[in-house]
Amino acid sequence: MIEAIRPAGDNRDAIESRVLPVRPIESLRVVTAVAPYRGRFAPSPTGPLHFGSLVAAMGSYLDARTHGGTWLLRIEDIDRPRIVPGAAQHILQTLENLGFEWDGSVHYQSERIDLYREALTKLQHGRYVFPCACSRREIEARVSKRSIDGAPLYPGTCRNCLPDGAVARSWRMKAPDREFSFVDRVQGEIRQNLAHEVGDFVLFRADGECAYQLAVVVDDALQGVNAVVRGADLIDSTVRQIHLQKSLGLPTPSYAHLPVATDSAGQKLSKQTRARPIDSSRGTSILVDALRFLGQSIPEGLHRAPLSEFWSQAIAGWSICRVPGERAIFIAA
Ligand SMILES: [Zn+2]
Repeated sequence: MIEAIRPAGDNRDAIESRVLPVRPIESLRVVTAVAPYRGRFAPSPTGPLHFGSLVAAMGSYLDARTHGGTWLLRIEDIDRPRIVPGAAQHILQTLENLGFEWDGSVHYQSERIDLYREALTKLQHGRYVFPCACSRREIEARVSKRSIDGAPLYPGTCRNCLPDGAVARSWRMKAPDREFSFVDRVQGEIRQNLAHEVGDFVLFRADGECAYQLAVVVDDALQGVNAVVRGADLIDSTVRQIHLQKSLGLPTPSYAHLPVATDSAGQKLSKQTRARPIDSSRGTSILVDALRFLGQSIPEGLHRAPLSEFWSQAIAGWSICRVPGERAIFIAA
């Protein structure tokens, strides 16, 4: 199934071609051969849409529309204990009320678990993964070094073989000891050594659920996504995802990580920190706040414009170069 995935192609040339005022005729032929832009917004239904997720939705939407591309919606609902009933519907309704127009039907990760298992099988055949019997508490007791996510850095206990009598609880991806790098369209060059900064990471968990890193890679490939625009809270996951793409023979999209909104304590505004839900009755004015957060110029009187006019002006004026190249920006609650 994974092999049948339509190649997304590297759309970086297509993206950059939009900012070049003049192109020689011979290179236009190359540009037309490049896969059309396909972006997405992929919220987790752990609560209603809040300002931080509105910023990510808007950045991905404007970038897709400015490139004449497709914008897909995906509900990332595989982390079942964190799902809030009704939240997915609330997010979709809020986006619709604010004038977002997505292409095609909404994709739900919870319906794709068989495909994630197929990807795991492929990684097992390639010996990219190993079964692990360690509980988080055991790992915690064994190591003091932390990964970039703040979790204890896996010490490699089961990497070569399971300890005698141990029962596998999860499947982990081997983290190579070499530096990976990619160029983010907003944050610039990012480098990371998976072995030193992340450690062997879990793909399928003890409870049988697929971890975010694998699901997102399979979904982006299945949906032909070739341009990812999302919050910078996910930037440290990107090298893991690129390593998974390469191991599965899947194309790597371009990446743009937008700054995330934080509160006065420096905490990301999220459903977990009880950020206030977006009040879609505020209409254009809340959209103008998000557009300003993304560093875009705001035409006079835009906050009073009807939604359709807001979107046509925002699409016409969008420039990802104006998005601040910072991972977090404080906003007053
Ligand atoms: Zn282990």
